[in-house]
Amino acid sequence: MRTQVGIVGAGPAGLMLSHLLARLGIDSIIVENRSRAYVEARIRAGVIENWAADLLAETGVGARMQREGLVHEGIEIGLHGERRRIDFKRLTGRGIMVYGQHEVVKDLIAARLAAGGKIEFEISDTTVHDFDGKQPKIRFKKNGQVQEFSCDFIAGCDGFHGICRPSVPAGVITEYERVYPFGWLGILSESPPPSHELIYSYTERGFGLYSMRSETISRLYLQCAPDEDLAKWPDEKIWQELKRRLGPDGEKILKTGKVLEKGVTAMRSFVIEPMQTGRLFLTGDAAHIVPPTGAKGMNLAIADVLFFSRALDEFYRSGKTALLEGYTKKCLARVWKAQRFSWWMTSMLHLNPADNAFDRRRQFAELDYVTTSEAASKSLAENYVGLPID
Ligand SMILES: Cc1cc2nc3c(=O)[nH]c(=O)nc-3n(C[C@H](O)[C@H](O)[C@H](O)COP(=O)(O)OP(=O)(O)OC[C@H]3O[C@@H](n4cnc5c(N)ncnc54)[C@H](O)[C@@H]3O)c2cc1C
Repeated sequence: MRTQVGIVGAGPAGLMLSHLLARLGIDSIIVENRSRAYVEARIRAGVIENWAADLLAETGVGARMQREGLVHEGIEIGLHGERRRIDFKRLTGRGIMVYGQHEVVKDLIAARLAAGGKIEFEISDTTVHDFDGKQPKIRFKKNGQVQEFSCDFIAGCDGFHGICRPSVPAGVITEYERVYPFGWLGILSESPPPSHELIYSYTERGFGLYSMRSETISRLYLQCAPDEDLAKWPDEKIWQELKRRLGPDGEKILKTGKVLEKGVTAMRSFVIEPMQTGRLFLTGDAAHIVPPTGAKGMNLAIADVLFFSRALDEFYRSGKTALLEGYTKKCLARVWKAQRFSWWMTSMLHLNPADNAFDRRRQFAELDYVTTSEAASKSLAENYVGLPID
């Protein structure tokens, strides 16, 4: 087996890269250690930035998103129960698309397979080799048999816990990291969301986020300890706390329903520099993680692979390597702005156990400012809908 670009991982980054490359006439093979059913059911992100939704639509994988996704023109921020709206449309002229990451994954897999794309699911023991030369190789096991293919480039799209980043020789990468002293307890439920837009609620009991996947399915989160024990959270207790963190009308406006999924997510900001070595290029969560408060993770993954696909296009059309050499710089300019925004939203909205009474009042003043100043709310809005991509 041989291909031009060997891709490790069939998450949003790997699938979108393969899709973009196919449109440029560049061949790729994806290897993924999970099954198709597993990756198509993995519930994660749900907010797509304006430009990314346009990119999905323009490249022919956005039809279902445009039919079933929800276009939102703002969010609400709750201050001890009083909700104030940030009007994205008025402030930026743009909105966001609410559409589950697993739906994007389904659409991309369907498109790749329909176009004859190659995805090897349920493989194991992936290793990457020889990326310091011109013929890198990807080796893996399928049905107990070792298989190998060579390629011109390897795209490490295998997420935070993948094998590509650890395969980079020691000393090449510098890691930048911040771990937060809280996490999110999230549920997916068969119930209508309390509002037609997302509510980010700051309260003395901790942060709550009220989002949705559709008009009948809600995605709800509570700030919790990073190692919170789910066993201590029966459904009834979760609903009660979600109502409390919504404010005085929480009881009335939050409808309960069957809990379909429950989990705890720890929060971390993480970036590596550089995102490439030889002919191994890291993308998405393999290279950077943001806390989910800013809704940026999947969007950054899509931006990275857009930049990488342009660089590969230039290389295959003209032999030039300028865009490939500039890949890290191009991605990180966007990544660090998204890191700043995600860190800021997270710090502003969560109760940090290390904070004192001064910090709480400063935090409240910041939320009050952001929700009443035209300049401050515009800054939040332009970052949330997505900074322009060039
Ligand atoms: C609770 C939560 C909420 C979030 N909300 C948002 C949001 O609202 N908006 C947003 O933009 N982002 C959000 N994110 C982040 C977003 O989900 C990630 O940033 C996104 O999944 C990154 O895509 P990726 O393709 O880089 O990595 P992944 O989605 O992690 O994909 C990596 C793939 O590689 C595979 N893989 C791993 N190791 C191997 C191996 N050795 N061999 C072969 N395959 C391998 C994995 O199985 C996986 O399929 C959220 C994340 C969480 C956890």
